[in-house]
Amino acid sequence: MFSKSEITDILKTDERNEEIFFLADETRKKYVGDEIHLRGLIEFSNICKCSCKYCGLQATNKNIERYRISVEEVISIAKSASQTGYKTIVLQSGEDGFYTKEIICKIIEEIKKLDVAITLSIGERSYEELKAFKDSGADRYLIRIETTDKNLYKKLHPNMSFENRIECLKNLKKLGYEVGTGCLVGLPYQTIESLADDILFFKEIDADMVGIGPFIPHPNTCLKDEKQGSFLLALKVMALTRIMLKDINIPATTAMETINPNGRIIALQKGANVVMPNLTTSEYQKKYEIYPNKAKINKNLNKYSDKMHLIGRTISSGYGFRDKKKPQ
Ligand code: SAH
Repeated sequence: MFSKSEITDILKTDERNEEIFFLADETRKKYVGDEIHLRGLIEFSNICKCSCKYCGLQATNKNIERYRISVEEVISIAKSASQTGYKTIVLQSGEDGFYTKEIICKIIEEIKKLDVAITLSIGERSYEELKAFKDSGADRYLIRIETTDKNLYKKLHPNMSFENRIECLKNLKKLGYEVGTGCLVGLPYQTIESLADDILFFKEIDADMVGIGPFIPHPNTCLKDEKQGSFLLALKVMALTRIMLKDINIPATTAMETINPNGRIIALQKGANVVMPNLTTSEYQKKYEIYPNKAKINKNLNKYSDKMHLIGRTISSGYGFRDKKKPQ
């Protein structure tokens, strides 16, 4: 286990990269094995009341065509995904109040009939709502802390509260969800020390899933001229997260693939064990532009399976819950 100063040192220089990447891959193999879990992502609404400064879906962005996918269509996308073998459906959206507690519960109940696990990624909701979603059958919830640097969090998230986000993560744990969090790497004014704190935070809250991706400037935001996050640094934060948290699920994020043409495979070989193919129909996918030029991934499971075999991995046919059992 690394201390904060060790993590900081590792992130600051490239001297120990090979060692860290090797150890991350070994830890992945030992604790979660060679199976890759596919999570089918449905981006059902790009309407958002928040104004996270890095995000292209921010309420203040007027150069974006907004959409909502109807309840029936969401269920029908999930149905065809489950027929082709997906065992997890991820429902993601902006923070869109149109989807009330009742509507989300209805979607969950219908999708649960398909014998799949459900992950929600719909932003901060009240304890009561989170409880209702869980009671309806939701299994997991993703809410990235984005950065644990409180001042930077405040700067980047006008009218939002760091404390609320933490509270939300705590509520999710209390309610028995598998909890996913994560951070952006390379945000303007982000320090290496704060990235070390992010990793320690994931450990402290005992996150079940951690998604890490580089910051990619979006042309319709005030951060458009800022520097893009480094692929290598994001990879190192991810590898250290694997080493520190061991048996959790870690996606090879789309943002990694977006800034490096082989990013997904590289991430899978340095700690990641999850991929999230996008199932949103292409007409909507274009409009769900959290950052530009989002990489696409083949959602055809057979083709994907062939590609994974080439790196010695197989596609899981299970739900892919975190298995806290320690290896023998
Ligand atoms: N509204 C949901 C889903 C947000 S989109 C929520 O608040 O949880 C999922 C993730 O995309 C965010 O958590 C953020 O980390 C990432 N993201 C947003 N803008 C980005 C950008 N410009 N570059 C890279 N990742 C970005």
